[in-house]
Amino acid sequence: MIDRRREIGYPVQCGELLPATKEMYSIFPRGTNLEELFDLDDSLTAGRCSSVEFVSPGGRVYSSDFVSHALDRRVFDKHLVSLAVEHGARVEKGASLTSIRDGVANTTIGEVRAKVIVGADGPNSLVARQAGLQRPSARYPAITGRAEGQFGDAVKMFFGTVAPGGYAWIIPKTRGANVGLGLNSRTCREQPSIAFKRFVDNLDCRVTDVALGFVPMSGPVASTVNGNVMLVGDAAGHTMASNGGGIPTAMIAGRLAGRIAREHVANGTPLSTYEQEWRRVMHNPLSRSLRTKRFADLFFSNDFMLGLAMAILGDRGLDRAIRCKRLFL
Ligand SMILES: Cc1cc2nc3c(=O)[nH]c(=O)nc-3n(C[C@H](O)[C@H](O)[C@H](O)COP(=O)(O)OP(=O)(O)OC[C@H]3O[C@@H](n4cnc5c(N)ncnc54)[C@H](O)[C@@H]3O)c2cc1C
Repeated sequence: MIDRRREIGYPVQCGELLPATKEMYSIFPRGTNLEELFDLDDSLTAGRCSSVEFVSPGGRVYSSDFVSHALDRRVFDKHLVSLAVEHGARVEKGASLTSIRDGVANTTIGEVRAKVIVGADGPNSLVARQAGLQRPSARYPAITGRAEGQFGDAVKMFFGTVAPGGYAWIIPKTRGANVGLGLNSRTCREQPSIAFKRFVDNLDCRVTDVALGFVPMSGPVASTVNGNVMLVGDAAGHTMASNGGGIPTAMIAGRLAGRIAREHVANGTPLSTYEQEWRRVMHNPLSRSLRTKRFADLFFSNDFMLGLAMAILGDRGLDRAIRCKRLFL
């Protein structure tokens, strides 16, 4: 495993919200043994959130009993890497992929002749480009920071001009909260940093560790396998477009990719099995989630219409939206 970061999991470019295992089964009913991935030791989490509140542009609050955890990704990402090392992986930090030629990876620490290359290198995946695979066509800028103070135990999502085409969030942690926003840079001319500053100024608290990243919002790419390459997580567009979450989907796909890479090397299982497997578990929820996001796009340009759409959906419809269900039964 190589990562260009010198410290795994840092800087944290993430709101760190991870749904509880029961919610993961409700989003991905075809998922198996999700407990292995999502039943986490308390040392890896930084708080439990018992609900989600959706705040309309006019300030009306809708609510869902969606349960989640705030992760500490600086700790959590290192934990995942240490599990890999325990199982025999070698990890090189501060090492970058530069190109892939004839299935061989060139990196800043030399050539790597791998039987299988897994591109888990985020939304701007170089692995995808080098392997002749698509990258997610829409990548929304998102900014996060750590706020000091008391924020209750409900995740809050704010919609409207606060974050045009996306939403702003408060994700409470045991101490403080992650605050941030993501917006549609195609339709919003405002710099994300300016929208972020306005949002946190209104919260009236100290915010540190501010980081910018990009969230794939166009659904999974057409193909995630080519030759000896597989794409996983943001590189594959594995984010839920209706809520921007990509940690759990990256973990589900990552486990599958690891399993199939092993079976490929041991028994010649075709790598295309990976594509079939992740689609079996995640394709339908991710497609529904993308449809919900496209439906929301129809209203995002007008706060009044957005407020009206939220009123029509109500608690139940908004709950279905974050669970990647059909909006209307
Ligand atoms: C501001 C923000 C807030 C978010 N909040 C949430 C949230 O609350 N909940 C949620 O579920 N999701 C959230 N997401 C999305 C989530 O962070 C991603 O979906 C998730 O991290 C995907 O994991 P990944 O492993 O695919 O990619 P990443 O976490 O982006 O990891 C990619 C890794 O590849 C490395 N890399 C990249 N290029 C190279 C190269 N050429 N050579 C070597 N290494 C390379 C990087 O250093 C990095 O470590 C958020 C995203 C942003 C930007």
